[in-house]
Amino acid sequence: MRHILITFLLVLIPLISIAQPDVPVEQWTGKTILLIGAHPDDDSYSMGTLGMLNANGNEVYIAILTTGNVGTQDPDLGMMDLALIRKQEEQAALATMGIPTDHYINFGYDDGMLEYEDKKEVVAKLVRLIREVRPDVLFSFDPGKGGQRWHKADHRASAYLSADAARAAMWPLMFQGQITVEGLEAHTIPEYLLYDSAEKDKNTWVDITGWEERKVDALSKYVSQFSSGWSDYNGPDLSPEQEEEMKENLRRWIRYRDGMPMEGFRYYTGLPDNIGR
Ligand SMILES: [Zn+2]
Repeated sequence: MRHILITFLLVLIPLISIAQPDVPVEQWTGKTILLIGAHPDDDSYSMGTLGMLNANGNEVYIAILTTGNVGTQDPDLGMMDLALIRKQEEQAALATMGIPTDHYINFGYDDGMLEYEDKKEVVAKLVRLIREVRPDVLFSFDPGKGGQRWHKADHRASAYLSADAARAAMWPLMFQGQITVEGLEAHTIPEYLLYDSAEKDKNTWVDITGWEERKVDALSKYVSQFSSGWSDYNGPDLSPEQEEEMKENLRRWIRYRDGMPMEGFRYYTGLPDNIGR
């Protein structure tokens, strides 16, 4: 039994150490970061980390697949209104974190319908973006460790499509026209910070000390999503009382571990084929 235990630990310990970045995320600099999400607020999971990385000399790009044009319970808002509102909210949130708003890319798909779009077309667009931006690190919805994981439909689609695109981007014969006609090169993304992971799968906690109030300020720009504007939109400006109430709620979302504000991820490094392992 003892031998089995020792063997188990010898096998497990290297696996645990592989799951951590060589350099703590808080010390990363000079990297190109790409986040892929489904909706214009899916960067909320990572907002403190993204702001910190941007300030630390990394280039941060945010790619969102849908316009978010059905995410409301306000009967007076139409799809066109909401797409515009959410574009402005996203840009305001990124500006609050100091991330250049021209680093925001929206693919324009309809909210709630991502899973039913032409997958080959979406992946081709994501592969092109990966080959253009050439990220060192991809932030993505976690497609699930050790098997499939249920996410709500657009998040599920975003998780799988971005993992599929990360994989396709490294093979020069996949979407070959991007290379032979458009002059791009194949690109292998070496590192991943997967967000909205199952709690048990999170292996990397980023200390966002000093960024927590900036994160609250940024998230407070999503008036149509994270305030009473969800059902009765009167934004983008709230009364001082409404704004403070919203921020008080958002402060409760900040996770603390050992008294420090943290954002949790599943870190993965290696060939994209093994993201799910
Ligand atoms: Zn979302």
